[in-house]
Formats: sequence, C-alpha cells, structure tokens
Amino acid sequence: MVQKQIAVIGGGVIGVSTAYFLAAAGHQVVVIERRGNVAEEASFGDAGVMAPGYVTPWARPGMPKHLLAYLFKQETPLMLPRKMDPALWRWIRLWLSECELENFRTNMHRMQRLIAYSSDTLLQMERQLQLQDLPIDKKTQGYLQLFRTAQDVALAEPALAILAELDSAHRLLDTDAVRQLEPALASQTALAGGLYLPHSTTANCSLFTKQLKQIAMSMGVEFIFGSSVSTITQKNNQLALEIGETSFSADAIVLAAGAESARMLKNLGINTPLFSVKSFAATATVKDMDAVPIAALMDETYRVSITRMGNRIRLAGTAELASRSATVPEAARRTLRKIGIDWFPHAANYNNANFWCGLQATLPDGPPLIGATPIRNLFVNIGHGANGWAMAAGAGKLVADIVSEREPEIDLDGLTLARYGVRTFS
Ligand SMILES: Cc1cc2nc3c(=O)[nH]c(=O)nc-3n(C[C@H](O)[C@H](O)[C@H](O)COP(=O)(O)OP(=O)(O)OC[C@H]3O[C@@H](n4cnc5c(N)ncnc54)[C@H](O)[C@@H]3O)c2cc1C
Repeated sequence: MVQKQIAVIGGGVIGVSTAYFLAAAGHQVVVIERRGNVAEEASFGDAGVMAPGYVTPWARPGMPKHLLAYLFKQETPLMLPRKMDPALWRWIRLWLSECELENFRTNMHRMQRLIAYSSDTLLQMERQLQLQDLPIDKKTQGYLQLFRTAQDVALAEPALAILAELDSAHRLLDTDAVRQLEPALASQTALAGGLYLPHSTTANCSLFTKQLKQIAMSMGVEFIFGSSVSTITQKNNQLALEIGETSFSADAIVLAAGAESARMLKNLGINTPLFSVKSFAATATVKDMDAVPIAALMDETYRVSITRMGNRIRLAGTAELASRSATVPEAARRTLRKIGIDWFPHAANYNNANFWCGLQATLPDGPPLIGATPIRNLFVNIGHGANGWAMAAGAGKLVADIVSEREPEIDLDGLTLARYGVRTFS
C-alpha cells in the first residue's frame, strides 16, 4: 500500500473515526477542525442511542401525514421556517418521494447493512483499544419505543416488517408489558404499546471521540484546532485546502465537516441534497433515582429520545428545518419539557434543564454518503443524519479502506454518491 498524506476536514465522531482508521492503515493524517476540540458540534449533544436493530430512515410511509398533523401544535416534532425558500421546497419534494414504501424499504436495508457492520467494528475497537466507560449508563437495558396512539403503532408497521425479514431481536409489547418493563413510566400519559429491542444500548459519543483522538494522536495523527477550511481547491491534479491566507496541499482529502460539507462540495461543482436539520437536547440532573427510565426510550410521536446519563437525564430530538442559528426556540423547549413531564415527571426538574442545539447533516433518503467523489483523491464521509454515532465506526473504516484502495468489507451499493447519479472517480 502507498502511504499518503491525508487531510481530514472535521473533528466530529465521523472525522475522528476516519482519521483513526487511516492512521491504522499506515497513512500520515492531519485532522483540521474549526473548534477548540473534537466533538463540539452534532457529536456533542448526541443522545447516545445505539440501536442497530432499529435504525430507520426519517422518510417513511405515513410520516408526512403524521408530521403535518403536529406542525401547528404547541409541541411538535418538526418546525418549519415562516418563509420557505426554493431549496427547502426541493429538499422536501425529494424527502416526500423517499417516503414511498419501496424507497423506504431500499433505504432501510442500506442503513441496516452499514449499521450492523458499524456495531461489529465498534465492538472490536472497544476490545482492542480498551476504551473506558463508553456505556453512558451501565444500568440502561435495551431500547424501547413508546407509541402513544394506535396510529403510532401503524406508522411503525413498515419498519417492523423489515425487522422481521432481518431477523432482528425485537418484541412488540402491549401497554401492560411496557409498564412492567418501565415501572417509573407515568400512568396518566396515553400509551398504546411499545417496541422493545433488548440488545440495544446507549454509549457516549463525545467521550468515544475524545478517547479516539488521544489514541489517534499516539499513532501520529496531528490535530489542528481553531482552523476553518474555507475552500478545497484542485490545481494540476493536486488537492489543497485554504485556511485563511494559507494553503495546505495533501495527497488526499476526506471531507467530514458535517453540515458544512454541502457548501464545500458545491464550490467544487458537486451537488448533493445534503441539508442541515437543527436538532435539540435538554439535559437535567436526576432528582430521584427510583423515577428514571431503565431502557433508552424514544417517544415516536414527537421523535424525542430519553436517555439516562449517570445522574443526568437527556431528552433529545425534534427537528427544525432551514435554521442555522444557535438558538433553541421556545417550541423546542416546550416539546422536550413535555416529553420529560409526560413520561418521567419525578425524575428531574425539566424547567432547570440545560438546552442545546446542533445541526445534523441530513439526506432526504437516509443512508450517508461514503467514499469517492468526481474529483480524484477527494473523498466524503457525510450525511449521517440522526444516526451518525451508530454508523461512525463502520463508516470510518470503509472510507479508510477506499482511500487505501483496499476492498471494503461490505457492499457499498446505495451508500455512495452514485445513488444520485454522480459519476465518481475510481
Ligand atoms: C440532539 C442530537 C441527538 C442525537 N442523537 C443520536 C443518537 O442517539 N444516536 C446516533 O446514532 N446519532 C445521534 N445523533 C446524530 C449524530 O450525533 C450525528 O450524526 C453525528 O454526530 C455526526 O457526526 P459528524 O462528525 O458528521 O458531525 P459533527 O459532530 O457536527 O462534526 C463535524 C465537524 O466539522 C467541523 N467543521 C465544519 N466545517 C468546518 C470547516 N470549514 N473547517 C474545519 N472544521 C469544520 C465542525 O466544527 C464539527 O466539529 C444526534 C444528533 C443530535 C444533534
């Protein structure tokens, strides 16, 4: 294998995982990150859910009707801007077409292929690298989706059919069984049932990224913080990065800049339907340990997860489209507070929660984009949406294999730019 000098743009969980596997393959790697440390954007507020059995695209049959029904309510899983620009309309049209059953099936199978590989890869890393304290809460057992109404159960049916085909360990539970599993669940909140995945868990995305940074540094990876890449240029077959007035050349570049990646690709004439979706987290201190959840949970109606993190509880989710501001709107605060109060009212005082928001780089169909681009030696690892933590280890290893011209260990069909008709350099 030829050793290359490789620049990775972005120090989130995706960039750091990629850098680690590139270094393990014998390359000289530098990670360029605009923040002061790794995992300071989407990878920071992550809820930590590792539910390989239940990673589903956001675009699915019945979802448009579901979201529309909540759009103008006080608490909502989705917020739209007052003024919709043409780019947003285009993205929504693409998203709607991906909600058709056959597209949903294809997208879910593609995501499941990557997620299964990623879970195995992470397990190997945990053993080999002796990563410390990754489980967010050692007492968390499984992943439980809560269905408030019969319509929520119906909305999950296409995904359940695929889980059955994949032979994934899961159980559809009635109301009593859900309450037995989660004794602290508030009894006054309407509940129609749940979906339980016993083998899923929670793990700490930001801690993983920081530990992997240290390991990568010990392998020779250089991290340059506080440096924002303005453009990627290509002159005489040589790639370079522009940071302020300075230009750095590299044999290869991996773009893993999360929500910023679309802009950099567009400057190079590569158009992707990558869109920034703002998502929120509320973290509150637990005041009664007997009143906390046992599993990691997801309120399917509002698309908000509930995870326990030691002596804290985190509510994460809801989406705001086309907003890049760092503010948490009142509707998001209300929604997250409601989820806490509805399900675990005695666990914490949600009025004192610490609210946070971050941008998820989201594609309308669901699977991320991994590997080659039309430009020689420029690679991407982008668009992991709401499942980037669960996909990071596998996606990082795949990209490192592609850059190293080694055969990837899983089929990449549907995980590359080729699915949008973009011809990539091979
Ligand atoms: C509230 C919330 C909850 C979530 N919960 C889960 C969950 O439970 N399970 C799960 O699997 N996933 C979850 N996700 C999704 C997951 O966190 C993301 O998919 C993942 O963190 C994406 O990682 P990333 O490295 O691509 O992006 P980021 O973490 O955003 O990293 C991108 C990095 O690139 C840097 N960058 C950008 N532009 C430049 C530039 N020009 N120059 C230099 N650096 C640049 C940024 O500063 C940033 O550090 C959640 C996301 C959010 C927001």
